[in-house]
Amino acid sequence: MSQSDDTIALAVRRLLAGFQAEDAAGETLGSATLEGVLVRDGLVQVTLGVDRARADALEPARRAAEGAIARLPGVANATIVLTAHRASAAPVATPQPAPPQPASHQAAARPPAPKPMPIPGVAHVMAVASGKGGVGKSTVSVNLAVALARLGLRVGLMDADIYGPSLPRMLGEHRRPEVRGDRMIPVEAWGLRAMSMGLLVEEDSAMIWRGPMIMGAVQQFLGQVNWGELDVLVVDLPPGTGDIQLTLSQRVQVSGAVIVSTPQDIALIDARRAVRMFEKVEIPVFGVIENMSVFCCPNCGHRSEIFGHGGARAEAQRLGHVFLGEIPLLLDVRSTSDAGTPIVAAAPMSEGARAFMAIAETLAKQLKKKH
Ligand code: ADP
Repeated sequence: MSQSDDTIALAVRRLLAGFQAEDAAGETLGSATLEGVLVRDGLVQVTLGVDRARADALEPARRAAEGAIARLPGVANATIVLTAHRASAAPVATPQPAPPQPASHQAAARPPAPKPMPIPGVAHVMAVASGKGGVGKSTVSVNLAVALARLGLRVGLMDADIYGPSLPRMLGEHRRPEVRGDRMIPVEAWGLRAMSMGLLVEEDSAMIWRGPMIMGAVQQFLGQVNWGELDVLVVDLPPGTGDIQLTLSQRVQVSGAVIVSTPQDIALIDARRAVRMFEKVEIPVFGVIENMSVFCCPNCGHRSEIFGHGGARAEAQRLGHVFLGEIPLLLDVRSTSDAGTPIVAAAPMSEGARAFMAIAETLAKQLKKKH
């Protein structure tokens, strides 16, 4: 029987909990914190936060856990990436009293956290995130980017969803980006400058990349793409709250994040986690968007609340963030997306396009205020 990704994720969490409990006393995974489990089509990526100084000692335990996950039913490949906690607050062994030092030396003892840098020529970076896959995050990223361009902004769109790049399909764009010198030139589509791993490699081969290569790819996007002058770079993040999100927030100055959720409770729990993640890394949350909120029958116009309605608005309020608006579940949003002609460009007067435009107007105002 094939296992669903959700079932696998649950089994991975259970297995890791066992590993952590078993090892709690020793030099092993007991001290690691589980930062993320991502499962796509049987490919598992786990991120564990560890004290930087203990990373080498934890390597055998990391490998053992990786092997155990790879043997779970339905798992095609497993990668565990260890990421460094910020300089550890909790001492691991018996702490020795430190000799008194001048304040400047104490500061120098901590490894410096990487400083978020602006991308040259790019005024704002806006991340589009979701707690889980399939809520329409990429559809929202693409259409918001096109909508912002229609408002007169110079817009870039970066697909940071390395595991499942979908922008080439959604933009109907498969040309390879040109390379000039050591910089890649984004492709021009629908008034945007776009870059996606899916333009560089086949979509399928992007799926089997291992953790460290993924980090490398994200950093390459950040450093080696010649975006030119942009008012805003929209970044379509992978779903969840893992390493790519962390890398992005440590490397680049992100002006704000938009969280996409469907209205069901289960999606909202994940959305809440995404909001908390951005709060933790001190990236402002611009607000929450409810996607697929009401189904409009294309024949009779009848509206049904298939996934419920209003959940994201209530959740945004509860979390103290702005509710940016809702996008109905519409047949033409899906069909234009699949045809590579984003609805905001293909049918600007349609209900779906107008919903995206209204949200883009709010976001454009928020970006303006940041100057
Ligand atoms: P994610 O990036 O969150 O995984 P996608 O953007 O790939 O999600 O969307 C998943 C599917 O849902 C796609 O087929 C897309 O066309 C469809 N979809 C997304 N939003 C809507 C909507 N508002 N109405 C109809 N279909 C939608």
